[in-house]
Amino acid sequence: MIETLPIQAFTDNYIWAITDHIKVVVVDPGDATPVIEFLESRNLELVGILVTHYHPDHIGGIHTLLEKHPGIPVWAPANEAVPHATQRLVEGDTVQLPVGEILLNVLDVPGHTSGHIAYHGALESGQPILFSGDTLFSSGCGRLFEGTPEQMLTSLKKFSALPEDTLIYCTHEYTLSNLAFAMAVEPENADIQQRTIEVTTLRNENRPSIPCLLSSEKKVNPFLRWDSPLLKNSVEDWADEKLEGETAIFAAVRRWKDCF
Ligand SMILES: [Zn+2]
Repeated sequence: MIETLPIQAFTDNYIWAITDHIKVVVVDPGDATPVIEFLESRNLELVGILVTHYHPDHIGGIHTLLEKHPGIPVWAPANEAVPHATQRLVEGDTVQLPVGEILLNVLDVPGHTSGHIAYHGALESGQPILFSGDTLFSSGCGRLFEGTPEQMLTSLKKFSALPEDTLIYCTHEYTLSNLAFAMAVEPENADIQQRTIEVTTLRNENRPSIPCLLSSEKKVNPFLRWDSPLLKNSVEDWADEKLEGETAIFAAVRRWKDCF
């Protein structure tokens, strides 16, 4: 059975390991050390690396991992400088993982970085999955380092159109602080209150709050709720201006979060 397991790195990164319990593909290995410990402690073989974008905390471990596992494929965005990339991907490309029968589809999702890509597909059980990198977080989204709000909104709409039961594997444990912001934006939203209780319990037990479910994110994540009248009113109050159109609303939510 294929499992997707978190390898903790740095203070709040997750390196996702897709494994059949013999072979492993890892996603965004920013640090080789915890990956090597994971492989050795479980006697697993690394057979590939998926990369969503070029930030050091997503690629910093690739060189060392390739020294120990030479010749394995490194799938990476076509439009970013990722050292050791063997396959350079754009939207429409697919990746046949050498683990199980998993086929992943590539989406271009600029915004956090200009060449950021994401991978979506399904496990052998049929369960839809998404590796969103730093584009979509549980209850939040990535900072706009290189893209415009319009680009990021377009990227998030691609995620929003995926099956409702998609499990989202993002790369940082930011959920509780994101929920605090979500609560400030929509204090009356009972789903945010409920999700905060759930995630607080998980984190108190030192368990990841990720993966998260797309259908749940649409109820609580202010960056997926550009069409909510309540959110619009709240953001207009904060911005002290009328906001026309979903891009203006989304941009204001992002500005608010940046100074929250
Ligand atoms: Zn990043």
